[in-house]
Amino acid sequence: MSAYHVANASGLIKLDAMENPYTWPDDVRASWLETLKTCELNRYPDPEAKLLTQTIRQRNNIPPAFDVLLGNGSDELIQILLMALPPTARVMSTQPSFVMYQQISQSLGLSFINIPLLPGSFELDLPTMLGAIADHQPAIIFLAYPNNPTGNLFSAEAINKIIAAANGLVVIDEAYAPFADASYMGELARHENLLVMRTVSKLGLAGLRLGYLVGAPAILEQLNKIRLPYNINILTQVTARFALTHHALFDEQTQLICAERTRVYEHLCNMPGITAYPSAANFILFKTPKDKATDIFAAIRQRGVLIKNLSPQGGLLIDCLRVTIGKPEENRAFIAALKSCLD
Ligand SMILES: *Cc1c(COP(=O)(O)O)cnc(C)c1O
Repeated sequence: MSAYHVANASGLIKLDAMENPYTWPDDVRASWLETLKTCELNRYPDPEAKLLTQTIRQRNNIPPAFDVLLGNGSDELIQILLMALPPTARVMSTQPSFVMYQQISQSLGLSFINIPLLPGSFELDLPTMLGAIADHQPAIIFLAYPNNPTGNLFSAEAINKIIAAANGLVVIDEAYAPFADASYMGELARHENLLVMRTVSKLGLAGLRLGYLVGAPAILEQLNKIRLPYNINILTQVTARFALTHHALFDEQTQLICAERTRVYEHLCNMPGITAYPSAANFILFKTPKDKATDIFAAIRQRGVLIKNLSPQGGLLIDCLRVTIGKPEENRAFIAALKSCLD
């Protein structure tokens, strides 16, 4: 194995990690600091984070029949889900997808089955997936919706068939929900093996480390046995509640990011030699001319912009780079840097 590598971004325009580029206005920041004054740091936090859970329920219209499990980032929820499995269990996802599904499975010694997406569309290969589900009986299937790093929403028809065919759990990872017009939250009542996972990271609170998993109480009750008692610290509990009650601010920022996504996508589509893939998230995957990705990535960084080089991951990602949507001026700097590399 190798550790999850995070590139050093000091001095660079940071468009590599799907962060929201915007900070808070001074008045909002000041009232947030006021609420922090109430935190009793000498006491353990509420182990169930009841107030925060209430706010999350309201903001996401979570039906009362379902429970919510909070994690120290959705990364921790992935870890909790996988730790709940017996050592003989198999885990399935798509290739490419979010790397932590495989990384954590491997660290726990679980078998992991990767099913390649279809080239060009990055759509689910439904016949192959259904065959592999029948053969391997995975205990958990992870589907990122929209998918990272490809940015697309898989066909709902294919996902529904996978949920119906699976004897195990299907986790729909909606990390990019703020930027997409689709969700499985409303489908929970229709499938007893469905779980929906979200995070506040991509919305604009990556520094807090807070994710949540929604599903049937009987499933979450079991997962809760593995959760460490105080996994959501008091500063996160108080700050996330504050932020989610000031959601108009995030709604505005999300709209700006989505408008910029359209602009950057159009620029990429007009660049000779570049193939850009449509995205329902806050990043865009694009393909560079053959064997040029690593050089182009380095040349863009040389010009002060850090994006992500996915080409080393191989498979469908050969020659591919991924850019996170930033502020308009940051995106302009990225476009100009890429253009100058292609000239
Ligand atoms: C970023 C990301 C996560 C991790 O989110 P955290 O809450 O920051 O741990 C999970 N799933 C997908 C698909 C992601 O892209």
